[in-house]
Amino acid sequence: MKKYVYFFAKNKSEGNAQMRDLLGGKGANLAEMARLGIPVPPGFTITTEACTYFYQNNGQYPEGLKEQVLEGMKRIEEEVGRKFGDSQNPLLVSVRSGARVSMPGMMDTVLNLGLNDETVKGLVKLSGDERFAYDCYRRFVQMYGDVVMGLKPEEKEMDPFEKLLEKKKEERGVKFDTELTADDLKELVQEFKNLIREKKGEEFPEDPWEQLWGAIDAVFLSWNNKRAIEYRKIHGIPDHWGTAVNVQTMVFGNMGEDSGTGVAFTRDPATGENVFYGEYLLNAQGEDVVAGIRTPLPLSKAQKTDESLPSLEEIMPQVYQELLKIREILEKHYRDMQDIEFTIEKGKLYMLQTRTGKRTAQANVKIAVDMCKEGLIDKKEAVRRVKPEEIDQLLHPMIDPKAKVEVIAKGLPASPGAAKGKVVFSAQDAVEESKEGEVILVRMETSPEDIAGMHAAQGILTARGGMTSHAAVVARGMGKPCVVGCESITVDYEKEEFRVGDIVVKRGEVITIDGSTGRVILGSAPMVEPQLKGEFAELMRWADEIRKLGVRTNADTPHDAKLAREFGAEGIGLCRTEHMFFAPDRIKAMREMIIARDAEGRKKALEKLLPMQREDFIGIFRVMEGLPVIIRLLDPPLHEFLPQEDEQIREIAEELGVSFEELKAKVEGLRELNPMLGHRGCRLGITYPEITEMQAKAIFEAACQVYKEGKKVIPEIMVPLVGDVNEFRNQKEIIVRVAEEVMEKEGIKIEYMVGTMIEIPRACLVADEIAKEADFFSFGTNDLTQMGFGFSRDDVGKFVPYYIEKGILPRDPFSSLDIKGIGALVKIGIEKGRSVKPELEIGICGEHGGDPDSIKFCHKVGMNYVSCSPFRVPVARLSAAHAVLEEEEEK
Ligand code: PEP
Ligand code: MG
Repeated sequence: MKKYVYFFAKNKSEGNAQMRDLLGGKGANLAEMARLGIPVPPGFTITTEACTYFYQNNGQYPEGLKEQVLEGMKRIEEEVGRKFGDSQNPLLVSVRSGARVSMPGMMDTVLNLGLNDETVKGLVKLSGDERFAYDCYRRFVQMYGDVVMGLKPEEKEMDPFEKLLEKKKEERGVKFDTELTADDLKELVQEFKNLIREKKGEEFPEDPWEQLWGAIDAVFLSWNNKRAIEYRKIHGIPDHWGTAVNVQTMVFGNMGEDSGTGVAFTRDPATGENVFYGEYLLNAQGEDVVAGIRTPLPLSKAQKTDESLPSLEEIMPQVYQELLKIREILEKHYRDMQDIEFTIEKGKLYMLQTRTGKRTAQANVKIAVDMCKEGLIDKKEAVRRVKPEEIDQLLHPMIDPKAKVEVIAKGLPASPGAAKGKVVFSAQDAVEESKEGEVILVRMETSPEDIAGMHAAQGILTARGGMTSHAAVVARGMGKPCVVGCESITVDYEKEEFRVGDIVVKRGEVITIDGSTGRVILGSAPMVEPQLKGEFAELMRWADEIRKLGVRTNADTPHDAKLAREFGAEGIGLCRTEHMFFAPDRIKAMREMIIARDAEGRKKALEKLLPMQREDFIGIFRVMEGLPVIIRLLDPPLHEFLPQEDEQIREIAEELGVSFEELKAKVEGLRELNPMLGHRGCRLGITYPEITEMQAKAIFEAACQVYKEGKKVIPEIMVPLVGDVNEFRNQKEIIVRVAEEVMEKEGIKIEYMVGTMIEIPRACLVADEIAKEADFFSFGTNDLTQMGFGFSRDDVGKFVPYYIEKGILPRDPFSSLDIKGIGALVKIGIEKGRSVKPELEIGICGEHGGDPDSIKFCHKVGMNYVSCSPFRVPVARLSAAHAVLEEEEEK
């Protein structure tokens, strides 16, 4: 016959911690603790298989369950020397749920089961306290009535039993439950039973066995209550798992001042420090600590903040010492921080639960590193325990998780970290007002014009745009908190305000944005600062020992490059040169170049840009000394550099010394229906070769200069948006020619490479042809996703969130690479490329280069490196290590 019931008692366990699927988390850990010789009240666990059978067979029990439960009860009776239903020496039990993973508070529990008009007398005798016994009895009738007989009201209503309790207190003229006498409680038990009869037309069952089966059914059924179903949906827990049922001897923490109950963490869950951390209450039952009715007391002396509050260490030193021993046993055994529950009954300690404790990201890093040093786990395990998504939080200031905040809207979490400041609506105001204090730049969307304002602001909020919109990419590059695509806000530039529903936020009012979650918060939220040294740095070094993928950064300025290097970047994977032209002092020259009537005019304007570009590159080469630097030629459509509104056009025409009409005509002429598919990328360099010439010249002059300073430079020049090998040939020819000219003039020879972005689907399909000419590939998965899906990356905010909600797409393909489709293109590109050049250097520089799942894919398909914004570098280092660890596990 199949086994459905697993017994446990100190040093006698049929189950163990590995049997979590069958016994649930709670049951498996109770069995394990008992196995370790830890005092656990004897009991048994009914398996999840019994629950699933129950569901598949219309509430029938599987064959043998009844007998096995009976047998289990007998063993408990023998173990504790009491009898279920006995009026002299009654055994009382608790009946609790316990799924494979913890679903806190979602399912049902019945305590004090086995009490009736007869056995309560036995409890009076056992405890020597009539009031206590009747208090247990009335609590049991109430719980049973609520949970098993279905009297528990909807959330907002008051429990009918509570109403009777309140009435009783009023009649007696008392304030607290504890002031009611044994006789009052006796009366209440009767009133509770009457209530059940009235409401249900049924009697409260006096028979303990009927009570037991009623409670077991109720726990099985609570697997499918509304709350539990909802919880499973949110946390992705399968419906078919079912719950186990734990039937366990009751121990009482409320048997007087020598009894109590508490919860503890084996280490501090907030900081990770190796100190015992917990709370307890004297003369109370477990639920009282969790429910927060009374303020719990500190466990240890060290933990005390208020001298007048006694710690358990002082009140019950022996029990505390025993707890300390158990703490050590559990940590050694589970090799992780535990969250435990205990009860003290008349001075005797019992453990009721242990499980892996929840903790902050900071604590998780510290605990993993400390445990490795203590010899509990190895480096690989320490690295495995810290999730890449988690450390992102550590790199930025965060909104204090304990703070209460007023969230007024939610957008896409485009660039992590929190920022607060006064709201401004233009880049210019951001620049001006940031001199006085912190500002948040709020825009419908941002454009290159706004760069200076974005730089000046603490954070950026836009109503439109997706995860790769201009605002998102630029903010991530700058490491600035940013929320984009916040479609519920309407921005009114004229009135200088934005609205969400009825809420109006005016210029100058303070908001806080949370780029890690997309929250927009009214007012100034309290923050906590990042922690980058110590254990964090150590864990990152361990990750580096494991990973095989290189990690570079996308950086456009020496400042970003330096930051990224501090974060551990091993080179620049993408330097977007256009960002250099957006600076206020340069955009004028850029505009002169664009409006020039012929190549001669363009060359003249480019002459002005050349020294500026050269300075930028010198700065970057210096910072990245000894590391490869990929510099990409100009990519965006030229209209992005020109003003669009008449008023601005007039202003800038004047500045440039041309007529309004002429500039307006130029703007019109550059307007494109689909600029992302238009005159951009290498198409610019091919039609205006003088641009490529100038950029190549700036790069190589800078390289020579830094080389002369005695520093090693490794320039890699990259051509954007190549779809055909002839496009690449055209640009390469210019770059190589200029490079040779400059180096010859300087009398210096520097190794360099000329490679290409692979970001157009066609390029993947003809990658073998391209690889014959190109020295390296870098996958631009932003454009590859845009063109592969045919989704305009700046407009996805309109429909992708809806797609995700409806399950049409599992997630935003601009945030996490669509491995099935776009990933297939990447694979083809790599295979074809390496088929002609096996050693071809291949990387990724789209935003996916900082996404953990995408990084794992990059590792699998054999890329050499990923490149991401500076603040994602540590995340990428850890993800790359995880990719190796997962691969090892699969083998
Ligand atoms: C890309 O397309 O993935 C890329 C890195 O280039 P950009 O985002 O500048 O178009
Ligand atoms: Mg691109």
